[in-house]
Amino acid sequence: MAIASPSMFSPWPDRLRHSAIILLAAGLALAALVFSGEVSLARAVAVFICIAAAALVPWRLHNVVASREEALGVNPVEAAAVSAIVAGMPDPAVLLDRAGRVIHMNATASQLAPALRKNELAQFALRSPDIITALRESIATAEPRRATYLDHVPVDRWMELIVTPVLVPTTFGGSDYCMLMTFHDQTPLRRVEEMRADFVANASHELRTPLAALSGFIDTLQGPAKDDAKARERFLGIMHAQATRMARLIDDLLSLSRVELSAHVRPDTLVDIVPIIRQVADGLEPLAGERQVGIETDLPATPVVIAGDREELLRLFENLIENALKYGASGGKVIVSLLSAASPDGAPEIRVVVRDFGPGIAPEHLPRLTERFYRVDVGDSRAQGGTGLGLSLVKHIVNRHRGRLLIESVLKNGAAFTACFPQVKTPAGG
Ligand code: ADP
Repeated sequence: MAIASPSMFSPWPDRLRHSAIILLAAGLALAALVFSGEVSLARAVAVFICIAAAALVPWRLHNVVASREEALGVNPVEAAAVSAIVAGMPDPAVLLDRAGRVIHMNATASQLAPALRKNELAQFALRSPDIITALRESIATAEPRRATYLDHVPVDRWMELIVTPVLVPTTFGGSDYCMLMTFHDQTPLRRVEEMRADFVANASHELRTPLAALSGFIDTLQGPAKDDAKARERFLGIMHAQATRMARLIDDLLSLSRVELSAHVRPDTLVDIVPIIRQVADGLEPLAGERQVGIETDLPATPVVIAGDREELLRLFENLIENALKYGASGGKVIVSLLSAASPDGAPEIRVVVRDFGPGIAPEHLPRLTERFYRVDVGDSRAQGGTGLGLSLVKHIVNRHRGRLLIESVLKNGAAFTACFPQVKTPAGG
């Protein structure tokens, strides 16, 4: 979009042009009077000097005292409105004149670029070559320009800058244009893009590893081990384990995307979580026996009702108890308990704690445990048939239930994973 205005290409400011027109008219009228002999030349020159002084002195005086807006010929009322609009913009915004000098800027712009000063050239304060080029091109063409740049201080931030020429009405009914520079923080969007790319790379890698093992064993079984019954038996066992791992990974990926898709819809079915926890604990008895771990449950005899999704809750407790059995097996005991407590803002909540007495988790890993594919020990997790998605799924399920996941651990002293759910408000207040 090209913006052109009558005054844009004029080398003279509006006020000076008006003075010149007055002087030309006066000069022509006086010359006619001199030629017709009605006024002497000396008198005509004196009158012309008086008119010239009357026309030029106010312009000169105005230029000396005028602020930047007035020098531009911007109507003061309009200037105040423009200033208020720039100040009220939520994103960092700076209004510049055609030379690139700052006319107005809002508080967020001063925070973003503290070197920006009113009445000074923005080019000196914004040292990014991309920004300077965008600004220069927009001024030269009177067309909008965009630039993206990375700010490293104090933290990495991706910013998009848009320079838009805007028409501003001037005092004498004309219009002139200024450059509106707005900054948009693209960091959250970039981070999501990066996470998505990482996720696809991780998922492909996780799937490719068992797939490579499977095709390797197929080649061996078709070739060298074709007639070796003992090797065939062993290889088929490994292939079965790899296929199970792939199926589990795909299962976890699908569950994760299903929970993510419905994250904004809070489950509203009332479910008693006591039998759900019991069902999971009973189902994991064979694994507990295999790992020589005893599962102790400390659950109330009466129903504990929350608003929840039964299938998701089964998945959640299965992940937590299975992790405790796999990674905390050396402790020989896992305790699953249920209690009522209050959230930090005082709301009543139901807490389900899965506590093991294994090696625990070092503090530096705790904040990252719920990230997708994050594992303290990748080899150990793979050996246990882990996908690295379990706790991420747990976190998403808890969030969908508008609850919280607490992870506490002390090295060599086990770990406790607590899923907190808001208590259902019943008419009786329970
Ligand atoms: P995985 O499929 O690897 O089990 P999770 O997301 O369930 O993935 O767990 C992530 C990592 O957290 C595990 O690989 C393990 O290193 C660690 N972890 C989870 N639970 C425990 C626990 N009870 N004790 C020690 N480490 C644990």
